[in-house]
Amino acid sequence: MTIHQEKLRNAVDVCDNCFKLRLVERTEVRSRGLTATPESVYTRHERTTELDHHPSDEPTQDKHLFCECGVVRPNSRAWDDSDIDRERFKDLLKHAIHSAERKGVTLNRERAVKRGLVNLAVLTAWWRDDINSVDGALADALEHGSAVATAQTESPASTD
Ligand SMILES: [Zn+2]
Repeated sequence: MTIHQEKLRNAVDVCDNCFKLRLVERTEVRSRGLTATPESVYTRHERTTELDHHPSDEPTQDKHLFCECGVVRPNSRAWDDSDIDRERFKDLLKHAIHSAERKGVTLNRERAVKRGLVNLAVLTAWWRDDINSVDGALADALEHGSAVATAQTESPASTD
């Protein structure tokens, strides 16, 4: 599984529409009888989300968690590939890198950005089997940034 799938698309704490973190994970120790077990608890990201009523809700219903980009569910999306221009792609890439880093992925940020922009050019110029969508372009950029960071960590003596 790619970083993009594991940390962003399949993750409940990242918005699929803008790739910002919508929930903050923390570990809580809860007592159950005689055993205390640490478990992951998600709370909403105060800065990027707000609680509000969805227009389709009954007035009495619980409030939904809105991401600041406007979508309610972590797996919903208000765009498709044809809506994404260079500026929006750069925002998505920036948020994807930031969220992946917050979730513990070590990236060479500069190389990931560079690769992402190359992928965007590839995407709009011709089809490649592995890079045929905005998600594919972002996924490849994150993998590349991570691979570069890993290579740098493994050979700190290299001076090239
Ligand atoms: Zn969002």
